Amino acid sequence: MSKAILSIFFALAAALPLGAAEGPVYLLTERDPSFLARNEVYLSVAYDKGRTRLVRPVLPYGDLPPELRAALKPVSMGDVRNAPAGSFAKVEEDHFVRELVSRVNPRNISAWAERLTMTGKRSAGALDLGPASGNRLAADMIAAELGRLGYAAEQHCYRKRRQDDECNVVGRREGEKYILVAAHFDTVGHENAGADDNASGTAALLEMARVLAGYRSDLGLIFLAANGEEIGIAGSYAYARKLKASGEISKIAWAINMDMVAYNKDGVIELETNREFAAHAEWVAALARVYTRMEPHVAMPAWGSDHVPFLEAGIPAYLSIEHWDNHNPCYHRPCDTMQGLDWDFAADIARLNLAVIAGKSRLTPN
Ligand SMILES: [Zn+2]
Repeated sequence: MSKAILSIFFALAAALPLGAAEGPVYLLTERDPSFLARNEVYLSVAYDKGRTRLVRPVLPYGDLPPELRAALKPVSMGDVRNAPAGSFAKVEEDHFVRELVSRVNPRNISAWAERLTMTGKRSAGALDLGPASGNRLAADMIAAELGRLGYAAEQHCYRKRRQDDECNVVGRREGEKYILVAAHFDTVGHENAGADDNASGTAALLEMARVLAGYRSDLGLIFLAANGEEIGIAGSYAYARKLKASGEISKIAWAINMDMVAYNKDGVIELETNREFAAHAEWVAALARVYTRMEPHVAMPAWGSDHVPFLEAGIPAYLSIEHWDNHNPCYHRPCDTMQGLDWDFAADIARLNLAVIAGKSRLTPN
């Protein structure tokens, strides 16, 4: 090709969206269906497995809508992975752990999830509308349940709203070091919805608290029912800041997050973390193969849920979540109700996370 033709070719290539095959790759950290409908036109997809979607903008970065720019995180390919867990981490079955996880009852999880979905609008924004919003009713209910199970339960209020405060609910059992279990209870705001996202994870958190109430432990426990996840992971960031301010952050040994744990199409669980904790996620995956019927996939890097503030604080943390390749079609829609959810799957995720706690601490039955 002559120099002149070459330069025409390059000019054309630069003008066409073909140019998107080059240039920086970003992790897309937003999956809300209405957000995607507004922004998909600006993106070419470079990688799409489970929760891990990498994109290249088809316009110069500065020309993208601000909401899209806010959802693009630069990544290097070495930090990216979404694949079935390896088989190198081996775990022997332990009768004590088997007995522990057998105490999980899926009927408890579905009953708690149903009560949460019946509270009304659980979005943090509903706190602007009236003093008896679904968000407030849910927070009070979770606090009452954690208290009834024997934990020191308190509301951690981090933001004033027009009618009521925006608060996390925290149930603690004191110790030198802690395992933190997180799940958000707020929603995107549909009436009596958010059953899978994330009444399911909150209910699984309560069931883990119930089972662990039957054991003494050498580590303390912090159950963080987080608020404001749907508006920028607000509650977990606020709680991580509080732990930093008090110096307690250095006492958090592990953090476990559950977000959307009750929709099951193919038995796959995604375990999401950052590269520095990949070996930890592989160990969790090995436990899943011994103590549950789930097929574990490991995903990285982490984004968009309550494990992120703790990973950013340097704490080994992971998200346990249903397989995003076959995720709930009612995600962030009014039809995210109790209909069609799989509470045995949610129970398996609670069993897995209990097996992790048993592996990281010394538990003794009461
Ligand atoms: Zn969620």
